[in-house]
Amino acid sequence: MVGIDFGKPLFTSEEIQRKIQELGSRISKDYADKDLLVVGVLKGAIFFMSDLLRSLRISVRMDFMHCTSSSSKGKGVNPVQMLCDIKEDIKDKHVLLVEDIVDSGVTLQYLKQMLIDRGPASLKVCVLLDKSERRKVEIEADYAGFRIPNKYVVGYGLDYKDRYRNLPYIAVLPLEEREG
Ligand code: 5GP
Repeated sequence: MVGIDFGKPLFTSEEIQRKIQELGSRISKDYADKDLLVVGVLKGAIFFMSDLLRSLRISVRMDFMHCTSSSSKGKGVNPVQMLCDIKEDIKDKHVLLVEDIVDSGVTLQYLKQMLIDRGPASLKVCVLLDKSERRKVEIEADYAGFRIPNKYVVGYGLDYKDRYRNLPYIAVLPLEEREG
């Protein structure tokens, strides 16, 4: 049986929801007069995306892309495997890309460039967590929830070996849960 009690959360469910309301207000204001397409990156952004969308006070449309990231595996490896792309042509549209976490920045940089190449009217990025001290490429999210230390976190969509995504809070993965 896999335990799911990690003691004190790094961010409680209430703290996450408060932060999302703040982000939602800013985004609603910034896009008040624009037609916005919000693109979520699966699987990690699933809960963040759905709560963020419900915090918005503007009418938006949504789409998803499903990717796996191998940015930690070194040079020569494509940093992102695209399992399922968005369906919509984003040319001349306003797009907000929603990710769970930016760590080295390699994944976000790759996805951002891929979307920019399709000619959107604008492209901004919203992430829930920012591990800024681990950055390897120069990239910043336009909207960022929490800055976090260099620890491996799980919960609220974030996984370890595809587990723990369903935790309603965010916790640091205890060392004894990690293999290798
Ligand atoms: P990058 O290093 O390219 O910025 O991030 C690559 C991916 O690694 C992220 O999209 C995320 O899936 C994963 N990742 C990075 N840090 C963490 C973490 O602390 N916890 C979890 N669960 N995934 C992480």
